[in-house]
Amino acid sequence: MHPIARLDHAHVWHPFTQMRDWQKSEPIVIVEGHGTVLRDIRGKEYLDANSSIWTNLHGHGHPTINAALRRQLGKVAHTSALGLANEPASRLAAELAKAAAVAGPAAPRSPLPAPRLEKVFFSDDGSTAMEVALKLTYEFTRRTKGQKSPRFLGLQGAYHGDTVGAVSLGHIDLFHKAYAGLLFKSDAVMAPYCYRCPFNRAKPERADAREYRRCGWECVGKVEQKLDSATRRGNPYAGFVFEPLMQGAAGMIPQPTGWLKRVTDLARGHGALLIADEVMTGFGRTGGCRAEEPKRKGAVEKGSTTRMLPGSPAPLFACQQEGVQPDFLALAKGLTGGYLPMAATLTTQDVFDAFLGEYEDFKTFFHGHSFTGNQLGAAAGLASLRLLESSKSVAAREKLEAALRSMTASLWTSPHVGDVRQVGLVIGVELVRDWKKRTPFDLRERAGIRVCEAMGRRGVLTRPIGNVVVLMPPYCTTPAQAERMVAALRESVDEVLG
Ligand SMILES: *Cc1c(COP(=O)(O)O)cnc(C)c1O
Repeated sequence: MHPIARLDHAHVWHPFTQMRDWQKSEPIVIVEGHGTVLRDIRGKEYLDANSSIWTNLHGHGHPTINAALRRQLGKVAHTSALGLANEPASRLAAELAKAAAVAGPAAPRSPLPAPRLEKVFFSDDGSTAMEVALKLTYEFTRRTKGQKSPRFLGLQGAYHGDTVGAVSLGHIDLFHKAYAGLLFKSDAVMAPYCYRCPFNRAKPERADAREYRRCGWECVGKVEQKLDSATRRGNPYAGFVFEPLMQGAAGMIPQPTGWLKRVTDLARGHGALLIADEVMTGFGRTGGCRAEEPKRKGAVEKGSTTRMLPGSPAPLFACQQEGVQPDFLALAKGLTGGYLPMAATLTTQDVFDAFLGEYEDFKTFFHGHSFTGNQLGAAAGLASLRLLESSKSVAAREKLEAALRSMTASLWTSPHVGDVRQVGLVIGVELVRDWKKRTPFDLRERAGIRVCEAMGRRGVLTRPIGNVVVLMPPYCTTPAQAERMVAALRESVDEVLG
């Protein structure tokens, strides 16, 4: 075993990892990265097929971000945001507010005026970005609506991070049950999962389940019932928390076009603030336009397809694709292009104003982190935004999205591929024992893990979520590299599952 791997085994405790399994084999030790390619300490090369757990946008060692960091290092790496301002954080806040204000497609259904996200609270990671949104919603509601203990509604299967507040908003039993005694109670409502929808009795087909579903938006009805009953009891929800377009850690579960707009209109109509967790979906991940409308006539009601006005900037956030303006926008993973831990929670002037007062009123938002507004992170974030907004990056993203869509079509020939679901540059492939019956593998069989291990042997790195294999390549991935990722997945499914 390599001496560095030995040190790891001796001392490093890895996240979300059964360390007994980890210690059975020599870990891959990464020493270098260029574009989509990572190199390990023994010289073997890999493709980074999940963008280093969904963080990397433009590839590793990008010259523009590297140069921005070097420039900033020549000035100063970090100064405190307690009592001091700095240039990159001020500029980044302004740029984020501008990016969040890009109008998505026309939203004729929207009944209420949209808030503008002009205030930016920086923190360190996705969990803290959500903690900030949670605390601000809680305190804003207490102050302005006189509710004693504001309540939150989230989605089944939701994941919003691992700090105690973020865990309280989440609804993944496997992760969260053990800590139940530490958590506050929050409610969950049905989220769409077309492939396993209890209302959709259509037989499985060799297509994304959103396309062959036959439904009357029963899942929207569930949200409406939940909101109605809370309002009727005189205790409406303070906040509605959701990942727009696709729930990531739930298993890359996409929402059919139109769901987001419908439920957020309902939630806002019931007075809830909209808390959008775009930690995974933000910064162009979900593409510029939605998956095509269902092709079969009469299968489902027509949703609103995204049509961008010519010459308007591409929306960077999933909410914008359905014309939804949330009251809170939580950003992290891709914020610095995947270089440094930094997060942001965007919110409105209204929320900000509720924390204004004389010093001795103590209306201050008593929350903060030592590295809030970190100068290096903000410099990387600015460089990443500039890249994202360049027409070259927009075109590359569109091309890669289309290439992946046609390449993954070949996966349907495997009887162990149940669902292939793509939103922009995120793909979840759900493995099943038998596609005709959608029979899941037992988690104990570790089907997803074994397939990803086989992909690793073929030089493609990604991680599964249960039985869902994730492909989420950096935007600089070439069609040839994308083809190698898809081929490795196809071959590994055949090898491992037969
Ligand atoms: C990863 C993730 C988080 C947590 O972010 P960390 O940076 O890991 O704390 C929160 N929400 C979503 C949707 C995520 O994907």
